[in-house]
Amino acid sequence: MDHNEMRRRFTKNINAIIEIKRDDNKSFLSVDEYNKRIDEVKEAKALLSTPGSEKGMKHYRRVRKYDVITIGGKDRLIKPVAQTAESKVLYYVTNGELFDIIHNAHLAIGHGGRNRMIAEINKLYCNITKKTIMVYLRLCTQCQKKSSTPKKGLVPRPIPHSNLNSRAQVDLIDMQSQSYNDYRFIMVYQDHLTKFVLLKPLRTKRAEEVAFNLLEIYTTFGAPLILHSDNGREFVNSVLVDLHAMWPEVKIVHGKPRHSQSQGSVERANRDIEEMLGAWMDENQTTDWPSGMKFIQFKKNRALHSGKWVLCNTTKFRKI
Ligand SMILES: [Zn+2]
Repeated sequence: MDHNEMRRRFTKNINAIIEIKRDDNKSFLSVDEYNKRIDEVKEAKALLSTPGSEKGMKHYRRVRKYDVITIGGKDRLIKPVAQTAESKVLYYVTNGELFDIIHNAHLAIGHGGRNRMIAEINKLYCNITKKTIMVYLRLCTQCQKKSSTPKKGLVPRPIPHSNLNSRAQVDLIDMQSQSYNDYRFIMVYQDHLTKFVLLKPLRTKRAEEVAFNLLEIYTTFGAPLILHSDNGREFVNSVLVDLHAMWPEVKIVHGKPRHSQSQGSVERANRDIEEMLGAWMDENQTTDWPSGMKFIQFKKNRALHSGKWVLCNTTKFRKI
């Protein structure tokens, strides 16, 4: 947002606040009101210093609240110095001056936030409210950007999962007896909410390799908050240590053991995968199960959308 647009919006918002306040307005001064106050204060001061003149309560009230000093030939309305802390000069400002004063103070303290802004403004002015400062701060594009992205870095921030209690499970299926191209394990990853399954062939079951594959999943689909595994707490913990080492900002904790019902369903799902894979290898007359992973994954997940889309009924595979 450019400076003029910012000023325009600020003025519009301030006018709306003044409109609501109407007679209850103790802080905002139009130029006319400001000049009228100056005249009234001068009049009151003259009267009060003239012996024998007719003085009213309003004249005393005015000089308690306002004083006038002349700076560079121009009258300025101030708070009576005797009433300020440390006998400082605090200025009243008109509505039209608000934007420039707040804007300059904001830049002077390097886009300082609310509290620093209030402290800075209160050093010199007495009728700029916290609400007015907030109207300005909400319009500062740079500050809004800053507050919505608290940390900046080269690493993207993990996409938060739509479900706050999102859980996922990672398990390994042992394929050591059918090792192919050094691949010996299947990593089975399932999102508990969507039931979506992702399969990856692994050469080892080392935490590092598992974490690397999880990283690929999380940078594509977003990360869950809780991760389980039937391969045990130690396994998950070391995977998470490696994952956090690669991606410090991802927040995933190791989940408590699930209740037996979903436990059984995951075991069933993993057995399912082994059976589907066996059938796929038979069908394609191959022992290349790592290449079958994508097809099995496709078949598994397609079942979730049964009847909605039939893309392909065969998972025939030809090596190229
Ligand atoms: Zn700012």
